[in-house]
Amino acid sequence: MSKQFDVIVIGAGPGGYIAAIRAAQLGLNVACIDEWKNEKGGPAPGGTCTNVGCIPSKALLQSSEHFEQAAHHFGEHGISLKDLKMDVKKMIARKDGVVKQNNDGILYLFKKNKVSFFHGKGSFVKAVDGGYEIAVTGDKSETLTGKQIIVATGSSARQLPGAPFDEENILSNDGALRIGKTSGAAPKKLGVIGSGVIGLEMGSVWRRLGAEVTVLEMAPSFLGGCDAAVAKEAEKIFRKQGLSFELGVKIGEVKVAAGKNGKGGSVTVHYEDANGKAHSIDSDRLIVSIGRVPNTEGLTLDAVGLAPDERGFIPVDDECRTSVPNIYAIGDVVRGPMLAHKAEEEAVAVAERIAGQHGHVDFALIPWVIYTSPEIAWVGKTEQQLKEQGVAYKAGSFPFMANGRARALGDTTGFVKFLADAKTDEILGVHIVGPYASELIAEACVAMAFRASSEDIARICHAHPSLSESTKEAALAVDKRTLSF
Ligand code: FAD
Repeated sequence: MSKQFDVIVIGAGPGGYIAAIRAAQLGLNVACIDEWKNEKGGPAPGGTCTNVGCIPSKALLQSSEHFEQAAHHFGEHGISLKDLKMDVKKMIARKDGVVKQNNDGILYLFKKNKVSFFHGKGSFVKAVDGGYEIAVTGDKSETLTGKQIIVATGSSARQLPGAPFDEENILSNDGALRIGKTSGAAPKKLGVIGSGVIGLEMGSVWRRLGAEVTVLEMAPSFLGGCDAAVAKEAEKIFRKQGLSFELGVKIGEVKVAAGKNGKGGSVTVHYEDANGKAHSIDSDRLIVSIGRVPNTEGLTLDAVGLAPDERGFIPVDDECRTSVPNIYAIGDVVRGPMLAHKAEEEAVAVAERIAGQHGHVDFALIPWVIYTSPEIAWVGKTEQQLKEQGVAYKAGSFPFMANGRARALGDTTGFVKFLADAKTDEILGVHIVGPYASELIAEACVAMAFRASSEDIARICHAHPSLSESTKEAALAVDKRTLSF
């Protein structure tokens, strides 16, 4: 007899584990299945985000930023250091420790909320009376039955045709986060294909640690999804920092010259520049970050009458319902931005719907963040989008250069930009490039969720001195009445 549950969640990334916890909070009997293994073969819930995504990348960004500050900026504060060194092995070990704390935290939360966790691969077996049968294949294989199923199986890195990941020379995000784990060395030359969030963050980590980084991008413009003013400012700063970009390229053959015992070696990428001229770059390692593909392999979706769409996503409606009753899908495996917090929002909404509540996700208010230095963050519409849509708007910007806290921090790059409706003054978009943009953007999200006007922000008392005063000043700039610039 199979174990019976109200809800079975397949996948324990930020989508899956949050869905399981919320459903359990609402009094449902919940199982969550996840196959991710740690180095010892044990469970490592948290998905891409915890194991090879958001969390470890931010750990390495923090370590490498400390190094960059110590190497190039401590002098301005009167701090001198002799023989500054980076212990790459220790940095990676710290990152692994941060990942483990998060894995353990999720296992603790499952226990606390009475979610039954199963370590293994989940797959659909068949529809049964009042639900679905799910097989778990792992250390202990068993069959579960759930009245409602939430698929949260996430995504994996897309490979470049003809250049599969070997995680030694051609690296996905997984290998990129393990560079130097055994050798203790940063690469001398690093190639990156794709100048999206992951390429920029990983390129920044290894540039700060001494690598000569070349980023090849197929799109003709830099950070095409960003507000154009932010993208222009960011590109200028990244180039000044030493990242080298080649835009509008066509990637050709990628050749690996393997080193001894499969270690070391080099990679040559042949490509055409935007004018069709042939080039090649040699690097010790190549990170390929050209997007991600949804994980549906091995789920046997067809056993319950489901099928992925032509791009591999599980088709769902706005409420994450699939075409089959009582089967939902959330997170990276469905349409929409591949972001952990988008997965979490869908998770909570689906769990609440299953419990008879009215969960809702406002897809127009999902913030984006790139954790480079300076950070980039935005929510709502870009200026290009408003122009395309023929929306009459007003814009206001404020540079961190004119902010006292930014000067005291020694980080005055970038600006905050507001876009507001020309008639009603409702905030339509906020774009930030500069220090702690990832934190500052939260104020914009709250304001926009309450449909605030730029005047509302301009009239709210902001602490002094704080970076958030730049948000208030940018709001004032919409009405051309900044007080400090
Ligand atoms: P995932 O996190 O991918 O989790 C899916 C889980 O399901 C995995 O554990 C997988 O093993 C498991 N699984 C799959 N199939 C099965 C099966 N059949 N049976 C059992 N288990 C299965 N997003 C942000 O918002 N902020 C960031 O800063 C950020 N940084 C990132 C940095 C990098 C390098 C990368 C690669 C991604 C980053 N992301 C970031 C994106 C973020 O990681 C994803 O959007 C998020 O993890 C998606 O969550 P998910 O729950 O849908 O899927």
